[in-house]
Amino acid sequence: MPSLSDLGEFGLIDRLAAALGPVASPGLVRGIGDDAAVYRIGTGPDGEARVHVVTTDALIEGVHFDRTFVPMDDLGEKAVAVNVSDVCAMNARPRYLTVALGVPDGFAVDDLDALYRGVRRACERYGCTVVGGDVTRSPALVLSIAAIGEAEEANVVYRNGAQVGDLLAVTGDLGASAVGLRLLRDPALRLEASAFPYPVRRHLAPTARLDAVEAFAHAGIRPSAMLDVSDGLASEIHHVCRNSGVGAVVQRSSVPIHPQTVAAAARLGVDPLGEAWWGGEDYELLLTLSAIDLSGLPPGLVTVVGRIVEADEGVTMEDDGQRSAFPGSGFDHFGEPHEELGIPSC
Ligand SMILES: [Mg+2]
Repeated sequence: MPSLSDLGEFGLIDRLAAALGPVASPGLVRGIGDDAAVYRIGTGPDGEARVHVVTTDALIEGVHFDRTFVPMDDLGEKAVAVNVSDVCAMNARPRYLTVALGVPDGFAVDDLDALYRGVRRACERYGCTVVGGDVTRSPALVLSIAAIGEAEEANVVYRNGAQVGDLLAVTGDLGASAVGLRLLRDPALRLEASAFPYPVRRHLAPTARLDAVEAFAHAGIRPSAMLDVSDGLASEIHHVCRNSGVGAVVQRSSVPIHPQTVAAAARLGVDPLGEAWWGGEDYELLLTLSAIDLSGLPPGLVTVVGRIVEADEGVTMEDDGQRSAFPGSGFDHFGEPHEELGIPSC
């Protein structure tokens, strides 16, 4: 019998899916294996097929966050954002949430109020509504959210649509959240965290990129594949390539990293690029698209970091014209390599 660390997070998901048995539902478009599940809900006013996308993510004290340095309103906002991010990764818009809350004995009511202020702030930002949930006693604080989003079926983007010749791009910048967490986790460096507000805020209260989904719609383009960067760029690129049956060449120098992330990484003595590869919780979008579609997007919305190639070329990194093996997978909740960083998978 393999252990959890033998299986790894994705091996475990495969095993659990096998235990559930085959799925037979005519309305189901996509089940386990993408950022969110997709099922048909009928047709819209113009006869277009409409779908819901459904996802769930839990934030657990001692695994995903440490109450000694995470403000409760930020935690509430983040719990919503990580779910909305998975909805956005499907090129859908969030509509409804349920919130399951586990509260330890003695937890301050003021802190619960703050937690829900954060949930409300995020709901207002992303235009979604909490419609129910559950409250229970728990040995640690647990915030588990399920999100339902909506889209036209033809607009939904999966992980498996990347085409040879497409460009590989990301929104925003990477590695900031991992660097922010390192600052916050070190009691000595925490005092200096105010010198690096950007990575700290990116860790405590990340933003889901609903604005990018709206920009794609406005420009009339649909990425060929997309997912959110929750486990580090390396892991997510491998997901796209494995799911799409393609390879990729990533330009080492083009990975976008914020100047404060670089400065904080120098203070910490870590490689900022490594934080982008293997860190996590950036909640940016990684997408593939054609050059023509790229030209229709607002300048600066995405950064091209590479291109999609034939599967037999594998996944490689290009640096000064030299190609080398691409770094391996990102954070794995149940195993190596970045468990010591404590960045969980969402
Ligand atoms: Mg995701």
